[in-house]
Amino acid sequence: MNDRITEWDGGWLQVKVPLPYSLKWVNAYLLPEGEAGWTVIDPGLRLEETEAFWEELMRSRNLAWTSITSIVVTHHHPDHYGMAGWFQERTGAPVWMSPVALRNVRRLWGEGETFSDELTAALLRHGLPAELGEAMHGHLAGFREKVSPHPREVRLVSPGETFVMGGIEWEVHGGEGHAPGHLLFYDRMSRRLLGGDQVLPDISPNIGWMPGGDPDPLLSFLDSLRRLRSLEVGILFPGHRNPYSRYRERIDELLDHHVRRMNKMAELIGDGELTAFEVCELLFGAKLRSNTHNLRFALAETIAHLVRMEAEGMIVRIVHEGAPGEAAERWRRQ
Ligand SMILES: [Zn+2]
Repeated sequence: MNDRITEWDGGWLQVKVPLPYSLKWVNAYLLPEGEAGWTVIDPGLRLEETEAFWEELMRSRNLAWTSITSIVVTHHHPDHYGMAGWFQERTGAPVWMSPVALRNVRRLWGEGETFSDELTAALLRHGLPAELGEAMHGHLAGFREKVSPHPREVRLVSPGETFVMGGIEWEVHGGEGHAPGHLLFYDRMSRRLLGGDQVLPDISPNIGWMPGGDPDPLLSFLDSLRRLRSLEVGILFPGHRNPYSRYRERIDELLDHHVRRMNKMAELIGDGELTAFEVCELLFGAKLRSNTHNLRFALAETIAHLVRMEAEGMIVRIVHEGAPGEAAERWRRQ
């Protein structure tokens, strides 16, 4: 257990909560609230394994569940939000998140959701082979239990406000592109940033297009990064990997990465007329077909880039309306 906990200045605990994906873990942070207890940020994906993990962690640290006085979620993704309700059940603490994140939670996993149908249909339009469509649908529906139970009580916090936790009055900043309504918490005094998944070290945060969501998430992401770049950050506490201090350099690398990615995709399209799925396979390899989770992220990311390339005049979209479930959208160079 101890190898999964790192103590930082001010008694903060970085807790590496296990994930069954290539990301391996998500960072939850425990910030001490003096005598009162702790605030937990991004408790993780709800699985039997993560429940057992937290039970053991609380035992090994001699912490009572009631010592958790507040639960904060940076964004709605299941690996961050998934255990919020489970934590609330045990602690009675309020869950804080942005209004946009809460809307997404309801759209993706609320009663009678239609999102798994909509996303699967959209990916089929973009060339996902029909035989993978069913697995995709099942994969999406499978997240419902990994985010249950949902918190009964959610309190809202928005960019532009201040938020007090861990004895610090944080500036709340917004980030877009990776997740709508993503929150970042910045302390100007100590130059600390709790960054969620907006700016990650080593890995480029997934920028995924979704039907009915942000129409141009890559633009939103790049704009967010340019805006966030003005913060003076001494150390960033990210949602994955370890805290780091190369903040502006990392932002510049990410900005660069996406320009290079778009150029690479234009090159791959060449003189052809390709679906997003075909571009995705050229980019990431056909082995993706065997991993629905990774395929979904890769394809959503590919579409996000194609949409931006279209807006920049690099490519055009060709729509052939066929039967539902058939690839209807293709891309060629301008
Ligand atoms: Zn995320």
